[in-house]
Amino acid sequence: MAVVAQLAGHSRSAYTTSPVSDPSTSPRTRAWVEVRLDHLRENAAAAQRAISATAGLVPMVKAEAYGLGMLPVVDALRTLPGGVAPWAFGVATVSEGEKLRQSGYDGRVLVFSPTPPDEYSRAAAARLTIGLSEAAAVERLAAAAAGEAEPLPFHVEVNTGMGRAGFPWQEARTWGPAVAAAMGTLRWEGIYTHFHSADEPPKEPTEEQVERFRAAVADLRELVHSPVLHVANSAGTLRFGGFGYDLARPGIYLYGGRAGPDTHPRPVVSLRARIVLVQDVEPGATAGYGATYRAAGPERWGTLAIGYGDGVPRALAGGGRVLVRGRSVPIIGRISMDMTTIDLSDIPAAAVGDIATLIGENGTARIDVDDVAEQCGTISYEILTRLGSRLPRVYLEREQGS
Ligand SMILES: *Cc1c(COP(=O)(O)O)cnc(C)c1O
Repeated sequence: MAVVAQLAGHSRSAYTTSPVSDPSTSPRTRAWVEVRLDHLRENAAAAQRAISATAGLVPMVKAEAYGLGMLPVVDALRTLPGGVAPWAFGVATVSEGEKLRQSGYDGRVLVFSPTPPDEYSRAAAARLTIGLSEAAAVERLAAAAAGEAEPLPFHVEVNTGMGRAGFPWQEARTWGPAVAAAMGTLRWEGIYTHFHSADEPPKEPTEEQVERFRAAVADLRELVHSPVLHVANSAGTLRFGGFGYDLARPGIYLYGGRAGPDTHPRPVVSLRARIVLVQDVEPGATAGYGATYRAAGPERWGTLAIGYGDGVPRALAGGGRVLVRGRSVPIIGRISMDMTTIDLSDIPAAAVGDIATLIGENGTARIDVDDVAEQCGTISYEILTRLGSRLPRVYLEREQGS
């Protein structure tokens, strides 16, 4: 595998598409995140196969592409397998959209959260396509776009049960005409909704949301000319084929997180840290704040150069494991901000400088991001988006022919 680029923290200036070969600039000295761009593209291809051949993909790259680094991910997905470009990229904030524009991306950018009142003019200036959830938002956007040469496209969100955003699905006959009245400076391009339970085994709640969406769209038929329709997150894409609509908006699945039962993404993210200290300790020795762990006999401990300040959840202590030399060993005591202690008693050969894998493959063993999330009582999304800015991102491509 070749390292194609590295991104220290999330700063764009540190991102380069040229190969990193100088060992003195290696980001793999302390702790780092590896991102398999080839697997990312395979997951995107699987998402595209799950929807109809004519449907478009809107990869969700909000929150720095779920912590992986937005610009390198956008670069990797700019041309999807099969040669097609994504219909758009999806973000959550105006700033994220501006960052995409500054990187030179001039395709569609969809912004999927209600926009704060003071950001409409920036959204219009960057020609972002924002999702609107109320009549007042339509007016604000129309005012912000008034000076633009071309009508600014927007999408309307319909609330079918998610509750956090969107016009109420039952009242489309009421708000629809108010939205349509703003045409001129604006162009009504799309209508969408968002699922709350598509990743859970029962499919009925999702089907009910689609019924509601259909009813709302039917009520809007005379007001908007063939809008693009979209409903599916990763689970809606992989488990329901995007319901045959025009676009799908996968996020977590692209990045290697499961999107409900029977979805099998290729792993994309690995989290690794060096062992920086190895000690043989006496029975009764204690590890970590609160001295919650006590050696039962003579033990060999290792200190990893990574902690909760890097995004390793404290909740991973007490059951969490890491891979060293292809074997699984336990985390002991509490996780500190910058360090984590592991029990290396079963691996006598372990040494300072060894790499420990907290997420990812090592030999034949593997820890999935979903395993870590489950161990911590959370979801893969939270584990990934909290990976710290202190961790360099290392982007890997399968080498030609390997
Ligand atoms: C984040 C988001 C998605 C992607 O959801 P995943 O579960 O990560 O696939 C899709 N649509 C909207 C509106 C979102 O906010």
